[in-house]
Amino acid sequence: MANIVAIVGRPNVGKSTLFNRLTESRDSIMDNVSGVTRDRIYGQAEWAGFHFTVIDTGGYVVGSDDVFEGAIREQVEISIEEASVVLFLVDSAAGLTNLDKDFAQVIRRSKKPAYLLANKVDEPNKTWMAHEFYELGLGEVYPLSAINGSGTGDLLDKVVSHFQSDAPEDPYEGIPKLAILGRPNVGKSSFLNCLLGKERSIVTDIAGTTRDAIHTLYKAYGKEFVLVDTAGIRKKGKIKDSIEFYSVIRSLRALENADVCIIILDATRGLESQDMNILGQAARFGKGILILVNKWDLIEKDTHTAREFELEIQEKIAPMTYVPVLFTSMVKKQRIFQAVEKAMEIYESRAKRVPTSQLNEVMLREIERKPPPATKGKYIRIKYITQLPGNKPVFAFFCNLPQYIKAPYTQFLENRIRKHFGFEGVPIRIYFRKK
Ligand code: GDP
Ligand code: GDP
Repeated sequence: MANIVAIVGRPNVGKSTLFNRLTESRDSIMDNVSGVTRDRIYGQAEWAGFHFTVIDTGGYVVGSDDVFEGAIREQVEISIEEASVVLFLVDSAAGLTNLDKDFAQVIRRSKKPAYLLANKVDEPNKTWMAHEFYELGLGEVYPLSAINGSGTGDLLDKVVSHFQSDAPEDPYEGIPKLAILGRPNVGKSSFLNCLLGKERSIVTDIAGTTRDAIHTLYKAYGKEFVLVDTAGIRKKGKIKDSIEFYSVIRSLRALENADVCIIILDATRGLESQDMNILGQAARFGKGILILVNKWDLIEKDTHTAREFELEIQEKIAPMTYVPVLFTSMVKKQRIFQAVEKAMEIYESRAKRVPTSQLNEVMLREIERKPPPATKGKYIRIKYITQLPGNKPVFAFFCNLPQYIKAPYTQFLENRIRKHFGFEGVPIRIYFRKK
């Protein structure tokens, strides 16, 4: 499941350009979930039926020049460690540089499958420009033009050959898988410790559905669940940007393996941009989502504070207002049990199936009351609705002119589905199909 392809290379070689090329078509499909915006450093791609995550390194570095190179180096190391396949980009127009040589060494040591791509070979008769990079000793050099796309198809054929086509069997089938996510220092470990303090029994600790996701089975508060974590937590960057970067990559891994994502915020800092990225990613993957506003003990409050805080968060994450928000203190052990219980409820909701007859009865009445607005002088008629089979809620609305239904109406339908059938904390996908 978690196939990760990392694009590494020094600045200006064309990493973002390649990243956009690999992710653009896929994202337009994935983003068919309300409230999801594209992220700068990772995106989804698809080739020959394989879905994978592409990471663009270096896009995450801010700061002065001297910090810059160090941070890039660290992020390159982290990305290589986390990736299933590495795409090492060099610039054939600029030629070989010392930084290229440094990166080549890191890649060689990692023993990861890696492809050396000589970018900016924009014309087929210019492949000679790639030749000097054989000096890096990484084997074959693939000429490429990220700008016009030549060479990328052949490359992707090779990349996907490293992926496993069938997901290995899940030893924890049917047990809720939770991922605890959030920025550094928000209280993730403290939450874990609170859970472990309770009548715990770690049954087993085994490698889960992917190479490096560790699934641990827990019992706490009478509930059984699996916490998804990733290997390599010990290794953290030394530079602030890299720690941040690492936590993003780690979250991504855990998230893909989870049913429900518990996203922890620091009450003293509020919702930050990285939290929005994780939220967007969780929604894109159709995961259950719960927000914990932690360190609530540090906030001076009156009776309205929690409600105000919640409204503020909902405003920021709109239209993902279906995500429940709880206020916790790991230090004072407040609402830890509620958090686990809520996560379990979300898990149940995500698996819920609405009987077709009930769905049609309720929703057709709503649609009759507020039909889709006519477009180009044509009436749109929705005839029939069904929830598609699968492990997350997807609804198909059959109608005469699916292409004319606009986003606000889709949002209306989503809101009505939620009003009648719940799905708290669960992203809903809606499709229109021609009847
Ligand atoms: P990054 O810093 O590695 O992410 O590099 P960018 O993707 O931002 O690209 C740096 C510059 O190289 C931009 O001006 C791109 O337009 C240009 N560039 C990227 N790919 C190609 C390519 O295949 N051919 C040419 N001629 N220019 C490219
Ligand atoms: P992580 O990096 O997300 O795993 O965060 P930690 O669990 O290591 O917590 C970071 C710091 O925040 C530690 O000093 C914790 O003691 C503190 N902390 C965690 N939860 C709370 C809380 O609910 N209230 C307060 N006041 N401090 C907390």
